[in-house]
Amino acid sequence: MDSPKPLLSVKKEIRKFSELRDPVAKGRVEYRYRCPFCVELTGKEDRSGSLYFNVRKRVGSCWKCRVVIVDDYNLDIESLHELYYAKQKARAAAEYDLASWSAPAEEVPWALDYLQRKRGFSLETVRRYAMRAATSPQRCVVLPDRILPNGRTNFFQVRYLDADKIKYSNPTEADKPLYGQHTLAGHDRAFICEGCFSSISMSTQPGWGSLATYGKAVSPLQQAAIGRLRAVREFCVVYDGGELHAILSTAELLADVAPKVSVLLLPYKEDPNSLPADSLAASVRHYRLPVNSLSLPAVMSYVKRHRIRDMHQPSWDKLRQYVQSVYNPDDPGSAG
Ligand SMILES: [Zn+2]
Repeated sequence: MDSPKPLLSVKKEIRKFSELRDPVAKGRVEYRYRCPFCVELTGKEDRSGSLYFNVRKRVGSCWKCRVVIVDDYNLDIESLHELYYAKQKARAAAEYDLASWSAPAEEVPWALDYLQRKRGFSLETVRRYAMRAATSPQRCVVLPDRILPNGRTNFFQVRYLDADKIKYSNPTEADKPLYGQHTLAGHDRAFICEGCFSSISMSTQPGWGSLATYGKAVSPLQQAAIGRLRAVREFCVVYDGGELHAILSTAELLADVAPKVSVLLLPYKEDPNSLPADSLAASVRHYRLPVNSLSLPAVMSYVKRHRIRDMHQPSWDKLRQYVQSVYNPDDPGSAG
């Protein structure tokens, strides 16, 4: 077996678009591929199609092995690096009207009921996040990113309540921001979550701010934005329990720009919004792993020693136990 890819590496691998075969799915903006580089970079074949290529921006990346794909236009690899980093500039800021098609969620009974009973949010949280609701084309809850002084927003996500296929959508022509930056005030630690609802749940943990990246992929723009949040000294990655590779990939990416990085190992297949508040708090206390050049090799070698290949529940439980006993500074009783 190959040894695991060294973590905390600085440069990402850049490969050419022309090396990709047929996509497994085509969206309007993004094509999805089985990543041909995962085997080489992670030792594991990508069967699920983890590589996304933005056909407008002509760049892509795989959230498993983190390879960056650029359209080569027959250029050499040096020019490709330049081209890729030149393209990572922010686009002109977008603005979206909300008032003409949605209403504050607290004024819409079915929306408030969904947010309070199904999502477990308080009325205060619904207000703090400026959540809204709309009925056309179908019932949905609207999660704006920031509310601008003119009442519009820079970005939003929609969660459809009655849909069985597409549950979420957001504007595709704008760059995804870091959701939830208003929660950072007064905190020097922040969670990084995949989804908005998860980050809202994490924001109830005392002493922490909470952000979301709208998916497991952290874009170069989001990574740069995280690097600019100087007041935040520690970022903690919180993804669904069991997703070790995605968790560590993101941790590695954050370690390039943040002073301190950790990850939170939630119970298997659970996410912050699916857990009751007390078990979420217990996870924060007992299952946080600091990510550094000592802990990562230790965890990777533990994973290897115990032959944890596919992260099924028994493996995940074992790993959590290991993290609790070795890395839990807040609970000296369990150390040793
Ligand atoms: Zn890959």
